[in-house]
Amino acid sequence: MTQANGDGPAEDAARNEDAARDEAARGEAARGEEVVRYQARGKVALITLNRPRYRNAQNSAMTYAIDAAFTRAVNDDEIAVIVLAGAGEHFCAGHDIGTPGRDIDTSFDRQAVIWWDHVGKQGADARYAREMEVYLGMCRRWREIPKPSIAMVHGACIAGGLMLAWVCDLIVAAEDAFFADPVVRMGIPGVEYFAHPWVLGPRLAKEVLFTGERFTAARAYQAGMVNRVVPRADLEAATFALADKIAAMPPFGLALAKRAVNQCEDQMGMRAGMDSVFGLHHVAHAHNAEVGTDSLAGMDARSMKRASS
Ligand code: ZN
Repeated sequence: MTQANGDGPAEDAARNEDAARDEAARGEAARGEEVVRYQARGKVALITLNRPRYRNAQNSAMTYAIDAAFTRAVNDDEIAVIVLAGAGEHFCAGHDIGTPGRDIDTSFDRQAVIWWDHVGKQGADARYAREMEVYLGMCRRWREIPKPSIAMVHGACIAGGLMLAWVCDLIVAAEDAFFADPVVRMGIPGVEYFAHPWVLGPRLAKEVLFTGERFTAARAYQAGMVNRVVPRADLEAATFALADKIAAMPPFGLALAKRAVNQCEDQMGMRAGMDSVFGLHHVAHAHNAEVGTDSLAGMDARSMKRASS
């Protein structure tokens, strides 16, 4: 969700951990493991999150690789539709809050917003800069690309994983897919891209947030959050059949239809709502850092998993 740089007494230990993580991240890169894969299949681009050993936890390297992949697909006139998928057993376990490749203190060339680099800043200054760029800004940027996108979801789709699925125009889920936004356990009122009331409806949004519990693909379908639920074995074929059907439509018509729905969603308050909730989100991070040792209320991937099982 965020970094703790400059926030607490754990800083020195954190620096040693950071060095170890940088080393591990360089190892990932040195082994030629792309964090995102790109493949063109006819008129459909398949973008695959590719950190399967970490359940596709989203570090900044992955964020920028997703951004580059979306840009590539938009710039290629042969591509009409984009499918976003996850390698391995799960779609995405969320933001990287503890893998060896966690890279929250690394600078990247910023793409989503014009703001200063978070690296070298302290407290809310650093968190706000980073999360506006790599989470809220990036998600909005991807939602607004002019080609239809389909999230192909199986296994876990948790917190930051929801953001990646929600920015896509359509979602096809395997029967084994499950969803959750458990960050209220950290005292945080939902992930940064706060689409919950619009994609789930207010009642289910509150249940999901208040309990932190998983909900199934079937429940997500009932709520209108996903378009299709299919057996895991049929997921790829069903998703590509839908993508191919859409790819036969005129590209400019698709771009305008997408923009039309997005604009109406924003007229229904989504964009303004997200802006206001982003402030609450950062009050929560700052409160955690002020009263405890870090902005995530001392939770990491392991303790979050333990709390939810
Ligand atoms: Zn956050």
